[in-house]
Amino acid sequence: MSKIYVTKPFLPPFDEYSGYLERIWESGILTNQGNLHREFESALRDFLGSPNIVLTVNGHMALDIAVKALDLKGEVITTPFTFASTTHALVLNNLTPVFCDIKENNFTINEDLIESLITENTSAIMPVHVYGIPCNVDKIDNIANKYGLKVLYDAAHAFGVRVNGKPIASFGDISMFSFHATKRFHSIEGGALAFGNQELKEKLDLLKNFGIKDAETVVIPGQNGKMNEFQAAMGLCNLNHLDELTARCREESDLYKSELSGVRGLSFIEIDRNTDSNYVYVPIVINAAEFGCTRDQLIEFLESNDIIARKYFYPLTSQYDCYSNLFSNSSCPVAETAAESVLTLPLYYELKDEDIKLICSLIRDASKSST
Ligand SMILES: *Cc1c(COP(=O)(O)O)cnc(C)c1O
Repeated sequence: MSKIYVTKPFLPPFDEYSGYLERIWESGILTNQGNLHREFESALRDFLGSPNIVLTVNGHMALDIAVKALDLKGEVITTPFTFASTTHALVLNNLTPVFCDIKENNFTINEDLIESLITENTSAIMPVHVYGIPCNVDKIDNIANKYGLKVLYDAAHAFGVRVNGKPIASFGDISMFSFHATKRFHSIEGGALAFGNQELKEKLDLLKNFGIKDAETVVIPGQNGKMNEFQAAMGLCNLNHLDELTARCREESDLYKSELSGVRGLSFIEIDRNTDSNYVYVPIVINAAEFGCTRDQLIEFLESNDIIARKYFYPLTSQYDCYSNLFSNSSCPVAETAAESVLTLPLYYELKDEDIKLICSLIRDASKSST
């Protein structure tokens, strides 16, 4: 049997992509805001329900230029329970990440702890909608307003999510989405910023294109962060398939839940009723004492059976070799426990029901306590 990985990039029917390639060949324009770039930007304004979109070569570049555009200084309150990119985007811009603990029920930043971490040096909050689960957006926006802080959401996982019927990008100052091949929706590599304040649009477009205003005018130091036409083509293709992908992944998530119901010491993260989820990950949490073995033992057991689950997110970014001695400012006991006990199971469009049943029966075997 071939291995089953935690995810597998979706590829649209070849003919659909080649249709867009013909348009690239006709125009002769490969990058620098061509027609497909413009079309993709416009499609995302509609899809994300956001008045302004800036496309970038990848999600990390989007975070980087968002940090720069918001003129952040000093300290930024953020979560250590995330992918490397979130913390690196702050550190590489000479900002100090102040790690706030997460909530036990859904692993997003604990909004009740944010105020206690605010100092005169705090300029922003950078929360993560981890696994596509919305943070407490209303409370975070309230805190930000009260203290005059910016809010930059790492929404890398949250493409298509809604809270109380509102698009996820309608909260905070800017939201960043990643279109990496392994994400639910992708443009091979790619990223986007969605935001309400139209004044940011020009600055962000400059920051991703060397600060070049016109042929002879360069107004700010900028990066080369542009999305090319081949990426935009893949994004446009995949957008047409997103509903079908999400519907299938929802079925798969439901099947995992029913197949694993009643296993002691194994729990799922509940999705709030006010949330339209994108079913992008299936994280499970293992309580070793009740389950009968540890998370690490379970991962090894699955791997020995060719099932490659992943520890998203272990280690915490605050515990990386490059950061563990630098930012010892706050302890995050809930995040530490989460990082030791969570694993994300395979979930992607082509995954078969029988694969899920096999994975679940292996998990039941690993659990000494289940019957
Ligand atoms: C994938 C990811 C990023 C970075 O996006 P890229 O497109 O890979 O650069 C940032 N934050 C989180 C939480 C991610 O999962």
